[in-house]
Amino acid sequence: MAELLKHDVVIVGGGAAGLRAAIAVAERNPNLSVAVVSKIYPMRSHTVSAEGGAAAVIKANDSFEHHIYDTISGADWLADQDAVELFVHEAPKELTLLEHWGCPWSRDPDGTVAVRPFGGMKIERTWFAADKTGFHMLHTLYQTALRYVELTWYDEWFATKLLVDGDRCYGVVALELRTGAIRGITGKAVILCTGGAGRVFPFTTNAITKTGDGMALALRAGVPLKDMEFIQYHPTGLPGTGILITEAARGEGGIMVNKDGYRYLQDYGLGKPLDVNDPRHPVKRTMELGPRDKLSQAFVMEMRKGRTLKGPYGDYVLLDIRHLGEKKINEKLPFVRELARNYAGIDPVYEPIPVRPVVHYVMGGVDTDVDGRTVLDGLYAAGECACVSINGANRLGSNSLTECLVFGARAGHHAAEYVASAPDPNDSVLQKQVEEEAARIRKQFLEKTEGKERLVTVRKDMQNAMEDGVGIYRTEQSVQQALEKVLECRERFKEVYLDDHTVSFNTELISALELECMLDVALAMCHAALARRESRGAHQREDHPNRDDENFLKHSLVVLRDGQPKVEWKDVVITKWPPGERKYGADSGLPTDQK
Ligand SMILES: Cc1cc2nc3c(=O)[nH]c(=O)nc-3n(C[C@H](O)[C@H](O)[C@H](O)COP(=O)(O)OP(=O)(O)OC[C@H]3O[C@@H](n4cnc5c(N)ncnc54)[C@H](O)[C@@H]3O)c2cc1C
Repeated sequence: MAELLKHDVVIVGGGAAGLRAAIAVAERNPNLSVAVVSKIYPMRSHTVSAEGGAAAVIKANDSFEHHIYDTISGADWLADQDAVELFVHEAPKELTLLEHWGCPWSRDPDGTVAVRPFGGMKIERTWFAADKTGFHMLHTLYQTALRYVELTWYDEWFATKLLVDGDRCYGVVALELRTGAIRGITGKAVILCTGGAGRVFPFTTNAITKTGDGMALALRAGVPLKDMEFIQYHPTGLPGTGILITEAARGEGGIMVNKDGYRYLQDYGLGKPLDVNDPRHPVKRTMELGPRDKLSQAFVMEMRKGRTLKGPYGDYVLLDIRHLGEKKINEKLPFVRELARNYAGIDPVYEPIPVRPVVHYVMGGVDTDVDGRTVLDGLYAAGECACVSINGANRLGSNSLTECLVFGARAGHHAAEYVASAPDPNDSVLQKQVEEEAARIRKQFLEKTEGKERLVTVRKDMQNAMEDGVGIYRTEQSVQQALEKVLECRERFKEVYLDDHTVSFNTELISALELECMLDVALAMCHAALARRESRGAHQREDHPNRDDENFLKHSLVVLRDGQPKVEWKDVVITKWPPGERKYGADSGLPTDQK
């Protein structure tokens, strides 16, 4: 068996969170050796596709207090308020740092950083680089990370398991795609930055790689997953492909209409269309710029009333940006135009864009504190795979990119300190675990030549069960049905056989390992969704339609006890903002000086 590949810190993931964490470790202690393991080339990470922008207070009309309040109320009070306060305070520093590293933030005519409105943010605070923000941010992070010689890049290596000895985490087992070699990559700390899990559902904006691997690895190692019942549907995906039309389209003034050309959102407690000459400009704070959970729920209600349009890919409504004019669309939303032309066959300068809700983001993830620490010493998580939690029951658009930076950096800094005093790993114990995992993968996938099941059918059945049972609206019965189907899919997965038994670039094997992860993540989502008998944010239980703070102002934790998933609970941290009603529109609960 090949030797262990030894480092001090192992980072799994080369997206915004992983790269920010890597830079943080290298800056804190240049003597540490850092492995950056990524199943795809880092610049292909899903971060690259983020369009709209990243939130941080920068303008004189804004304040930390406002950003904190928007985030907490947007989260339906399930966010930990200490984490939100810290996040909001560190956000402008992180985005400014990115500016210094070369990120080309779009500018106002006077040369200052421009901001745009975003859903649920009642004051404009979203920094952007046209509508290709993620691309520019990831480029900036990657080129900065390349400066540090202490980083070793494991591009196209797939982590399959955490190495744990006693009560500490010491690295990962990873498969090199090019050679098929399965090796141990060890360190005294591991930071999981593996992104989200939208692919658990059939219709998603998420890249094919977003399969919840890090969440599954943590769960299997006994670390709880927090708030997994909260799955964000973005209200404006292109029917058929699920490609995202960014919220920036509405931030710049786009409106949404139903089949009668009516701005239906005014019927759903999100404010009324205001006079366009009103200094509070209508689209900035009301209706189309309500939070994503409420907009997606409004779509379902319109559909039930028969007021949506019907197309080959199901029901849809229209997002109209024609009134912005060609010049502004080209300047501020060039990518929206490109996507609509290429994938919907329409030019939004002349025609409205067909859209429908699409799975976009998982609010839940690996349970961490504000330094990215988990209950397992040496294991950290940051970015979309983690749940700190600042997003609670509903994330506000543009908080996520900033979250990757703030908490990626904090996890990196903490891990750099931790490894200085953590005990050395016992190499022979770890080597044995690597051998066992390699043998498991060979036996279960590569050497198995027969079986009853195909990967694709099991995956599709799981995805459809999740959409049907754990979608925008759920009931006990619908989630129970999804759970039973997911359990059945897990059994059927054991009977899956692969056609490709080669070792080099065996992408079928990677798909199998990803599906194995998604099945675990789906299971956690179902258990959490069953246990939360209330409606809050993105979790709408039609059999329990109200928010129930008395019993459920708590984080759910799904944890494996003796191999069986159990749901436990953890208090939400409330500092200054007692639970209140979420208000949007003119009387939105915005601090009075901003009304
Ligand atoms: C289309 C789209 C648009 C978005 N727009 C915005 C926006 O405008 N503003 C905003 O704030 N948020 C936006 N988001 C959300 C935001 O982009 C993501 O939450 C964020 O970029 C996630 O970053 P990350 O570093 O956590 O993970 P990712 O960028 O997804 O990176 C995950 C990394 O983990 C690696 N990895 C995963 N599994 C393994 C494994 N088993 N082994 C090895 N490596 C592994 C991958 O190779 C990858 O490098 C958008 C999301 C989408 C899908």
